Amino acid sequence: MWQTNAVALRAKKSDGSAAGSARCSPTTEALLVDSPYFPDELEALPGLLAGAGFEPDALLATHVDFDHVLGRLAFPGLALGLGEPSVERLHREPGAAQRALRDHDDEFYVERPSPLALGQVQGLPVPGSVELGSEELELHPADGHTADGLAVMAPWCGVLCSGDYLSGVEIPMISSGGSLATYRSTLARLAPLVEAAEAIVPGHGAPNDRDTALRILDEDVDYLDALERGDERPPLPKGRASREQRKIHERNLRQIAT
Ligand SMILES: [Zn+2]
Repeated sequence: MWQTNAVALRAKKSDGSAAGSARCSPTTEALLVDSPYFPDELEALPGLLAGAGFEPDALLATHVDFDHVLGRLAFPGLALGLGEPSVERLHREPGAAQRALRDHDDEFYVERPSPLALGQVQGLPVPGSVELGSEELELHPADGHTADGLAVMAPWCGVLCSGDYLSGVEIPMISSGGSLATYRSTLARLAPLVEAAEAIVPGHGAPNDRDTALRILDEDVDYLDALERGDERPPLPKGRASREQRKIHERNLRQIAT
């Protein structure tokens, strides 16, 4: 019904932290980036991840659109890590994520056992880095879709979580707070990261290999050129030329005119 991705990343604990710990304690640290949406997905997630050897110690959201911040519904004991621009956006728009979630839940007839509480939020500098076990995650600015946003690069396993960029199912979406110029800068910033990655996981749509993600990036730059020219009916990329994507284009045209 909807394609949303959550990505679990893990890394071995550094020798120092593993030494002296009980033998049965986990030898890896794990982090969950973004979240699934449906209540049954959220309910199944902890067991599914544990079965695959991932037990998240932390949550991170690429941006604070409602469909990316639901991790605490699956892991209520964990704090939500956010880039500082996302924390600022939360303060500017108190309750917005909760309201948007309620609206979408109403539209899809989704019932939840409990409402969304973002709980404790941890602000992280962007650009910056976060330690995960003995490895380091890079946080890169990724604004333009919204006013906030980060991309997460896990160099030790070649994974780039690109947030709501480089999707094979969605054209670039300029939401309120986003802009064409910052979207372009983000694509330029993502290009070398894609070159260095093996798997690129967007917030929506299938994970892609490097060549596919680079193709999508080129298509997105072409699309932004057409948007900037104000084309009413530009050709949309293959696989993204649906009526729904045309509606996004119409909203984009209105958004860049404001
Ligand atoms: Zn999204």
